[in-house]
Amino acid sequence: MDNIIIVGGGAGGLELACKLGRKLGRDRVTLVDHAFYHIWKPSLHEVAAGTMDMHKEGLPYTMLAHHNDFTFVYGSFAGLDAENSEITISAVEEDSGDVIIPQRKLGYTKLCIAVGSTSHYFNTPGAAENTISLNGPGDAERFRLEMIKQMTWAENRKEQDPSAGVDIIIIGGGATGVELAAELREASNKYIDYGFRRLDATKDIRITLLEGAPRILPPLPEKVAATATALLEERHVRVVAGCRVAQIVPGQVEDSTGHAYAYNVCVWAAGIKAPAFLARLGLPTNVAGQLEVTSTLNVKGSANIYAFGDCAACTMEDGRRVPPRAQAAHQQADYLYQAFLRQSRTGQAPSESYVYRDYGSLVSVGSQTSVGTLMGSLKGRSWFVRGGVARLMYVSLHLLHHRAVLGWVRTFGLAMARSLIRRNTALVKLH
Ligand SMILES: Cc1cc2nc3c(=O)[nH]c(=O)nc-3n(C[C@H](O)[C@H](O)[C@H](O)COP(=O)(O)OP(=O)(O)OC[C@H]3O[C@@H](n4cnc5c(N)ncnc54)[C@H](O)[C@@H]3O)c2cc1C
Repeated sequence: MDNIIIVGGGAGGLELACKLGRKLGRDRVTLVDHAFYHIWKPSLHEVAAGTMDMHKEGLPYTMLAHHNDFTFVYGSFAGLDAENSEITISAVEEDSGDVIIPQRKLGYTKLCIAVGSTSHYFNTPGAAENTISLNGPGDAERFRLEMIKQMTWAENRKEQDPSAGVDIIIIGGGATGVELAAELREASNKYIDYGFRRLDATKDIRITLLEGAPRILPPLPEKVAATATALLEERHVRVVAGCRVAQIVPGQVEDSTGHAYAYNVCVWAAGIKAPAFLARLGLPTNVAGQLEVTSTLNVKGSANIYAFGDCAACTMEDGRRVPPRAQAAHQQADYLYQAFLRQSRTGQAPSESYVYRDYGSLVSVGSQTSVGTLMGSLKGRSWFVRGGVARLMYVSLHLLHHRAVLGWVRTFGLAMARSLIRRNTALVKLH
């Protein structure tokens, strides 16, 4: 009997666990994650800005396991014994060092690795020590608390020092950086209403976005980047393109020309790579630490180990890599789900190649508008979209993820409940 273990309950892994669980049941499907609850990663800029409360939005894996009929194992994937088809899950300890759950070994017939990505600092001096990244909900929450602390200090200094404010620097003008900058501007207006009355949101919460390429959103069409730049500048976000960060010291980012940018809080959103531990598993990895996979998402040289999502290096027919996006993780989860079900019916291992379909890219620029492109079914055709319609499509991606893990009825119920709660609580998380 199949015993499928999925490691990593993110955008891809959780969808696969839910779909397989509903078909095969908890005796055959296990999900391992080192977090206790799930937040869809593309929402992390909202958690960081305080417009989303992770303690309300997080979905506990134990609940998801119950509703979708899979087994959840809490802990960190720490080792692989491919010869004996076994993984090691590290012990769960209290801060004091007391062991709550001891180290465990789990046997599998199929192992699916979907542990996502982490920050790539490209050896930039001071980047790891002085910046915050949005790798997980914990990082996003750390950023939010730091921002509130800095706003409180500025508020208390304002009378003596009229120039007091908060300088936020975001390094990396990709989708993460752009979405965070816009969300922060919107949130800063709300924070002022909740008691930071001496601060002026646009003058005193100073947001700067630094991008090394000649324009922000380098992989997207020029028109999308130009529109996003204009929307950010309308929101008083300073956009500096062509800025190569050379080093980061406490309180200051320095670029390759020697120019310095002062900061109180600095965010690193300039690149991703796979988690370092993957390179120690004895499986093939590329320079970004991603697991090398075949067109059937098998880790090269391992018939019963699969990898997908951000942690996998999957090459398309034209030689390009599948991009690290929720869209790709979702499609790959769907591909593996269909392939595993077919295999359980026919006994045939997956042979049809996974094909990445680019449906376009949408970038959120605050809660009211988005901008991006939609790809048509005709080869090479794409449509530029912006405004409310683009926003609706952006939000629908999150809803589709919820539908995959909760089903339509619960997704609808939860969306209605959350919209009511939002109308009756603070618009940003204050505590
Ligand atoms: C702010 C932001 C905005 C984004 N916006 C978009 C967008 O608009 N559209 C888009 O397509 N993409 C977007 N992305 C990218 C998208 O979030 C990722 O491509 C996607 O989440 C990758 O899915 P995944 O399943 O590979 O990994 P993840 O969703 O990152 O999930 C990885 C899971 O693995 C778990 N894990 C990690 N290590 C271990 C371990 N050792 N043991 C056990 N569990 C482990 C983690 O807890 C997590 O649950 C955005 C990303 C960010 C940060």
